[in-house]
Amino acid sequence: MSIKPTQIRNFSIIAHIDHGKSTLTDRFIELAYKDYAKELQKQDRLTDVLEIEQERGITIKLQPVTLPWKGYFLNLIDTPGHVDFAYEVSRSLKACEGAILLIDVTQGIQAQTISTLLMAMDSNLEIIPVLNKVDLADKMLINTRLDEISQILGYSPTDVILASGKTGQGATDILDAIVNKIRPPRSLEEILGQNEAKQKSISDGQTAALIFDSFYDQHKGVVASVRVFGGSIKAGQKLFLVNMSKEFIVREVGLFKPHMEQVDKLTTGMVGYIATGIKEIRDVRIGDTISNNTKVVIPGFSKPRPKVFASIFPAVDKDFIHLKEAIEKLALNDAALDVQVDNSQVLGQGFKVGFLGLLHLEITKERLFKEFSINTVITMPSVKYKVKLKTGKIIYVKGASYLPDKPLIDTIYEPVIKGEILVPDKYLNGIYELVRESRGLVESTNTLYTSATSATRSVVYYSLAVKIPYAELIKGFFNKLKAVSKGFASLQYDQVIYEPTEVVKVDILVNKQVVPSLSFLEVPNKARERAKKILNILKNTLDRQMFPIPLQGAIGSKIIARETIPAYRKNVTAKLYGGDITRKMKLWHNQAKKKKIRSQFAKVDIPHSAFIKIMQET
Ligand code: GDP
Ligand code: MG
Repeated sequence: MSIKPTQIRNFSIIAHIDHGKSTLTDRFIELAYKDYAKELQKQDRLTDVLEIEQERGITIKLQPVTLPWKGYFLNLIDTPGHVDFAYEVSRSLKACEGAILLIDVTQGIQAQTISTLLMAMDSNLEIIPVLNKVDLADKMLINTRLDEISQILGYSPTDVILASGKTGQGATDILDAIVNKIRPPRSLEEILGQNEAKQKSISDGQTAALIFDSFYDQHKGVVASVRVFGGSIKAGQKLFLVNMSKEFIVREVGLFKPHMEQVDKLTTGMVGYIATGIKEIRDVRIGDTISNNTKVVIPGFSKPRPKVFASIFPAVDKDFIHLKEAIEKLALNDAALDVQVDNSQVLGQGFKVGFLGLLHLEITKERLFKEFSINTVITMPSVKYKVKLKTGKIIYVKGASYLPDKPLIDTIYEPVIKGEILVPDKYLNGIYELVRESRGLVESTNTLYTSATSATRSVVYYSLAVKIPYAELIKGFFNKLKAVSKGFASLQYDQVIYEPTEVVKVDILVNKQVVPSLSFLEVPNKARERAKKILNILKNTLDRQMFPIPLQGAIGSKIIARETIPAYRKNVTAKLYGGDITRKMKLWHNQAKKKKIRSQFAKVDIPHSAFIKIMQET
């Protein structure tokens, strides 16, 4: 079967989490593949692949899917809806010519959506605005939203498709709009720019495909999800992963219909998969170009740079091998996961892992528990500090336990992001305050959208150029951003620079014992406040014992914060019962208990929920 580019449309869905992307996609699949209707009913959800995504109800990324529709082939390439994955979003958008902008009528426009929308507009994508979940709204609410969309985004209400993933309303209209409004796939020349194409004497016939996702398959090796920009790709061809300088023979090519289905070739404009036979997912990177010519490079490639680091240990020593296997399995399918062996005197053998962000860390911890039944102890997440030693040597420090002693240190540098906050005017002051609190700087403020149409309801969005230490971003910044703006502000960033800072190592002690996984690095004037917050969470989550448990925060031997978990109940028995034996028994009993608690905190760590709370809120 040969498919002409004029029969193809490539699009993505830009939506905030929970605005109904997966549900609506299920309706598309149903319409395109009538046979799958039954299967959908059985499974409830086809498109959210990862179990964890289903349980948390968040969609990091949908599987790509080809929708046959009235003689056309519509390819949905999803974008992950979270800042941790901004690079992946940019690659997915590059593979498309259009996007559905999906807005939940009950929630309205969210700032994160606007950020992604701006990226899409920068790439000249045709946008199809859709107001979703209209089954939940009355006429008045719908009109209010249409008004907002018109004022903030400038789309006329008649351009907005009213839809419901639940009832299926509007789904057909959306598919028709994709055919009619979105242009057929761009050529390789267009994506490279004509001059560059000429210089490199790259003709349209040249083979080129952009990888927008990759995953490991036991039988096929690493499979690349691709958008073909030129040429014709078949099994048996020798091709290159251009940026990674790696050669491979194509094992198989196919389409997502919606399950993987082999075809004889992938041609210009198509979206499908290429089974590479390569064993290592780190060789098949998102954003890389697959070509028969090593000079063909679709611009924008970069390797994922982990920004958050934490060490993972098994809660029980004997689980190390089990943990090793599990992490290797996860890493097999997650090229962004950066894993090294780690050893800690107290916590034993484990792994030092680099993540794209906190969400990535949380997901990984949860998958280890849910998919592999491994209880883990994870150290407090840290950024990567650059430390210049007195000797002149530069080292990188990825966690509290690796910071050299103070006398050895000349200067410490921390990663600082340069980015953009989008916020409606009424939350502007809260944002200024938050940026300052986060040791950040607002470098400039610009008006982004002003409404011209209505004097009664006008929403003005501001764009703030900001600089914020990354260490502050991983201390619940995004939750705070949400809180001060009712969810209407967002932060995007692409640049990370290093700036001088000072940090100290703070230990948390439970019952006078350091809990190694809770040690963290912090600037001196925030150390006490942060330690206090952690102690408070511990105080409210740890079980009470028969005796009070002291909780302390310390820098070296200096105690900077303290709290106490009160005893379970007042110890009045000593007064009632005299006699040596009782007292001795009691003493013995308490000591045994203390010993038990001690060992518990040295190793087994705090409950999962408390750790997540500490991670997100302090
Ligand atoms: P996603 O995170 O954007 O993929 O959103 P989901 O498709 O997972 O939907 C989030 C929640 O909204 C789920 O509980 C859905 O059942 C519900 N939902 C999605 N679309 C609709 C709709 O059109 N109407 C109603 N009433 N609920 C919907
Ligand atoms: Mg979903």
